[in-house]
Amino acid sequence: MITGATKLLGVIGHPVEHSLSPIMHNAAIAHLGVNYVYLPFPIEANGLATAIAGFEAIGLQGFNITIPHKQAIMPMLTEVSEAALAVGAVNTVWRTETGWNGCNTDVAGFLAPLTSMPRDWSQTIVLVLGNGGAARAVVAGCSQLGFAAIWVVGRNQTKLQAFQQSWLASPLQPKLTVHPWGALPDLLPQAGLVVNTTPIGMYPHTDASPLSPALIAKMPTAAIAYDLIYTPNPSQFLRQAAAQGSTPIDGLEMLVQQGAAALEIWLKQPAPVEVMRRSLRRQLGLDP
Ligand code: NAP
Repeated sequence: MITGATKLLGVIGHPVEHSLSPIMHNAAIAHLGVNYVYLPFPIEANGLATAIAGFEAIGLQGFNITIPHKQAIMPMLTEVSEAALAVGAVNTVWRTETGWNGCNTDVAGFLAPLTSMPRDWSQTIVLVLGNGGAARAVVAGCSQLGFAAIWVVGRNQTKLQAFQQSWLASPLQPKLTVHPWGALPDLLPQAGLVVNTTPIGMYPHTDASPLSPALIAKMPTAAIAYDLIYTPNPSQFLRQAAAQGSTPIDGLEMLVQQGAAALEIWLKQPAPVEVMRRSLRRQLGLDP
């Protein structure tokens, strides 16, 4: 029940209507019985500073950030975590006595399904498809896990070079090289983990895949196929990779785990991860 003492949390972005975060966080809030509510705030790119001043005035406790504000928010924060600085983006902000602090829980979210596998990644090459915002969290995460090499494949040479350059000053110093899309036939047979960070295959284009059947056939059968896409679930890429023996990981767990990490920062108590996972699976029609 919302009362006069209810504390506010939320997500800012544009568009934000499609966000599943309100469902997941309000399910957790109800389960914990804490007096909070989590709201979507549609804020256009040029409205960010005004929105933050408003949040200050109304005493908002914390918020998530999605496109287009993940980078733009950074100069407005008092402190930014090292991981968020390395990624170059913030997805979680919380109020402190001295101002707003920010971090990036996408890295921990991405890593959660991999760290639950008892594996030494130091002999494994990870191949990352795409070089956008999510690829940055993936590179930061893979660098933390100590992969033998991180190969990032993209379609735009200028953006690929800029992506590589952007890591030069990072404390993470990822073992990163960038490659054109046309190099995939040579790269795929050597990859132990293939991560799709492009939106290819995302609803409503559910028959699309970033890799053609001929390219998927080049993946080692023991490779892990990880798609950040969570709708459809599984994606065409994961369906095809699993059909030839790969272990599939979908993007739902990353979504759950980045949300759980954010909630723990705001509430300073353990997040009910299973409740959050179940609320999303039900919303996506994966469970009754
Ligand atoms: P983004 O910043 O727009 O990056 C998308 C990347 O995909 C860019 O490098 C883009 O290349 C590339 N790309 C797009 N269409 C392509 C195509 N037809 N062929 C080759 N490359 C293509 O988006 P993002 O924020 O990184 O998000 C990417 C995906 O990850 C989305 O599906 C999003 O839903 C998902 N995601 C999931 C989670 C989760 O929690 N599971 C979290 C974050 C993101 P150009 O740069 O050349 O355009």
